[in-house]
Formats: sequence, C-alpha cells, structure tokens
Amino acid sequence: MFSLSQKSLYVEPLDLWIDSLRSQERCYVSHGHSDHAREHRTLVTTPNTARICCARFARRAERAPVTFEEHAFNEPWEERDHRLTLFSAGHVLGSAQLMIEGERGSFVYTGDFKLRDSLTVEPPEVKRCDVVLMECTYGRPQYVFPPHDEVAAQMVAFARETLEGDAVPVFFAYSLGKAQEAMAILGRAGLPLTVHGAVETLAQVYEACGVTLPPYARYHAETFDLRSVLIWPPGGKALPKALRNKPVRTAVLTGWSLDRSALFRYGTERGFALSDHADYPALLQYVERAQPRKVLLNHGWRDFVYRLRALGIDAEYMEDHAQLSLF
Ligand SMILES: [Zn+2]
Repeated sequence: MFSLSQKSLYVEPLDLWIDSLRSQERCYVSHGHSDHAREHRTLVTTPNTARICCARFARRAERAPVTFEEHAFNEPWEERDHRLTLFSAGHVLGSAQLMIEGERGSFVYTGDFKLRDSLTVEPPEVKRCDVVLMECTYGRPQYVFPPHDEVAAQMVAFARETLEGDAVPVFFAYSLGKAQEAMAILGRAGLPLTVHGAVETLAQVYEACGVTLPPYARYHAETFDLRSVLIWPPGGKALPKALRNKPVRTAVLTGWSLDRSALFRYGTERGFALSDHADYPALLQYVERAQPRKVLLNHGWRDFVYRLRALGIDAEYMEDHAQLSLF
C-alpha cells in the first residue's frame, strides 16, 4: 500500500504523496517547514498551513500556481474507500497528523510533532491506530527536555541580565514556529522585541490565524533600538549590521542545546532547550497512548528502533523498506 520514493511516502490506493520533496500533482503537506512543504499542483493540508505556505511561496510567484485542498482538524473526508482525517501535531501552527482508515485498519502519519502545550500552537492530539509512522528526531534517552516553564524563565532571565549589562540579547530561532513562541515567552515578560523580516512575515500569519502575539518591531538597521531583544533566524548566524562592534550576547533555541557540543556548533554563548519536537519520554508516551501494533520510524536516530523492540514493540525503520504493505 505504501512505497518510498526519493525518501518520500506514496500511498498507492489513494494516489497520494505525503510531504514529498519533489513537486507532485497532489501531495499532503503536514506543516509549513521547508523540509516538508514544497510547491505542488495541489496541496492537501490544513487552512492554517495553507496560509503559512501562501506567505512562504509568495516570493516565488513567477512559478506555477499552487492550489490548496483544505481540511480542518477532525473533519474526516472519504476518498477511494478510505476515510482520511487530519488532527493536530502540536509542532508549529497548522501542523497536522494524517489518519487513513480502510477496511483493514488504521494508519497514522505523525509528521513532526510534540506533546507539550505551547503558547502559539494548537494543542496536540494522539489517536489510537493500528500502524503509526512517526518521527524520532530525539529518539535517544539523553534527550529529556526540562519543563517548559523552566526553559521560558531561563530565557527571560538571560534577556534581562543582558539588557541590564547594556548588551543586546540575540535569540537564534527558526522563523516558523520557534520564533513566534520565543516572541510570546519574552513579550509576556514585558521585554521589547525586534524581529527579522522573515519572522515578522510568519508572525503576521499567526496573528491572522488568531494567535495573540506581543507588540514587536521589524528589524531595520537604521532604526534598531539597542535596548530590545532581537529574534533572528539561525540561518543568518552573522549578526545584523546595527550590531557590528556593539556588545551582544547570543543564545540558540533548540533541543540540541542539551548536547555539550551544541554551543560550539551554533557559535552562541548560551543554548535553551526550547523544542518543537517530542523528546525521548514524549516519543515513548506517544506509542503508549496510540497503542499501535506496529511502529514505523523516520527522521531520527535509527537506534530508536532497537529501543522500542527492547520494550516489546514491533518497530521498523521506514527507510529500510522500499515498499510496505500494511493493510
Ligand atoms: Zn518541522
């Protein structure tokens, strides 16, 4: 029923691609990150992910137009003798899991997910299913994120100390998802915020989708206020013009900051484990709650397969198979 081509999943009976990295006629897109959301003729997705994709694709308007087939969470539709349902993955705004139910059972594709609640994302859901294909980015036992409140308090303390020391705190965070959550955390504490243009574009989409964000300014070299907190995409590690030769302190927001080498890798002074993925206990918790008879894994440590098997769970790494018949 399922096959893998170019590391992308294809569901044959539905003629449906899932998060394909190559442009397809019709593809399900789980969320707006660029390693999942590519331009296809028709994107099957949630209304919020459609808005995020529109904002992200806008700069490439010269390309062939894309159309969106939108489905709200928990509003199933029928297709070729199967019932399909999208439900929240809690990863970034609009992120969804896909459930496919047929005569012979139910299958869930999680896409990227997390289980903790967030200030800016729809609460995640776990549904019971027969087979789950899940990501396992942090599928090693050392990846246990501290409680969210603790991480948030550390971020606020770092920003305050830095401003009190007459330096600019710079947080490196992905433009989609992490940056908006950082804005909510730091803004709630009353800290003035300045954000990169890409962060602003997506923050505007979040606001249009009903997420409340604190006041913020878009970064301009000429008008940048040195008494504000700067939120910047990690891809643009080089500090912006207005900060050259100015005292700054930098921090990266990623689950990988639990690794000793992370600060060296990201080139920052501090790292805070604010993640949009499930940590190791949350991955196990997902399996426990979904109660699948089979777990398929992708995007993560391959040895998570053996950890699940040791717990008596039937698990396989998806990329070990070109084709899988599940039903
Ligand atoms: Zn993602």
